[in-house]
Amino acid sequence: MSAASPRRRRRLVHAAVVAASCFGLGIGAGALLPPADDWLALAGASDATAAAPTPTASATPVPGASSLAAITADPQATAVRTPEVEVTAPDVDDPDSLTVVVNKQRPLDPLDHVPDDLVTVEGIPNGVTMRAEAAAAMTALHEAAVEAGAGFSISTAYRAYGTQSSLYAGYVRSRGQDGADRFSARPGYSEHQTGLAADVSNGVCTLQACFATTAAGQYLAAHAWEHGYIVRYPAGSDAVTGYIYEPWHLRYVGAEVAAAMHDGGIATLEEYFGLDPAPDYR
Ligand SMILES: [Zn+2]
Repeated sequence: MSAASPRRRRRLVHAAVVAASCFGLGIGAGALLPPADDWLALAGASDATAAAPTPTASATPVPGASSLAAITADPQATAVRTPEVEVTAPDVDDPDSLTVVVNKQRPLDPLDHVPDDLVTVEGIPNGVTMRAEAAAAMTALHEAAVEAGAGFSISTAYRAYGTQSSLYAGYVRSRGQDGADRFSARPGYSEHQTGLAADVSNGVCTLQACFATTAAGQYLAAHAWEHGYIVRYPAGSDAVTGYIYEPWHLRYVGAEVAAAMHDGGIATLEEYFGLDPAPDYR
C-alpha cells in the first residue's frame, strides 16, 4: 500500500458526503454468483504468509463516516476553533486492521497476508480459527444465540492464501480464468483470509439464502452487531459488495463500527467507509 494520506482524506470526505445522502447508490445490479470462498468452504480450508502494515492517516478526526457528518453539521464545530487533535481513523487498508475492507477491487496487501493472532474459536465444536478478538466475540455471540434457541456451527472461518490459490489455479486450468472467476474468489481477495470472517450453519439451508429464514439466520441478522459482527453481504447489495445475499457470512468489524452501521441503517462496509462499489474485479 502506498503512502496514501491524500487519497484517504478524499475518501473520508466522500464518506461524509455519502453519509449525508443516505447512502443511495444508483448502481445497476448484475447477476452475481456466490463468492468462491464460500463454495470452496465446503471443500475444506487452511493456511497463508506475511503482513505489511500501512501508514495510518492522522488527518481529520473521523471515527466513522456518520460521526464526521455529525461533526460537520454541528454549527459549534465551525464557530469554535479547537486545537488540532490527532485521531486515528479506522484503517481500511492495513490487513491487520479490524476494519480492513477486502473486496473484488481491494485485495489484501500483500496478497499472501497471514494474520499473526489466529486462535481456535472456543465453544464451537469443529475447531475453526479466527483472529483473537473476532474469535472471542464469536464465542460470545454463539453463547447468546444458543441461549435464544438459535444455535449454529461454523463451516469455515480463516482460510489461507495457499488453499485458495491452489483451488483457484485448478479451476483456471479446467475452465479458464473467466470460468473460474464466476464461482471462485481469487487468492488474496477472500475476506476469509483476514481471519475476521466466518460462514455459519445450522445444518439447514447451508450456504443458501434460505438460511436467513432459520432461527439462527434470524437471530444473527438481528443480534450479530451486538457482538461486533455484520452480515457482510446483505440482500440487494450485490452491486456494491460483488456478492449475492449471504446471510451466513459474518464479518467481525468491532463493536463501534457494527453499532454505527446498525444504528445508521448502513448496509455495507463500502458505504460506511465511502469506498467505491466493487461489483467485479478490475
Ligand atoms: Zn464466507
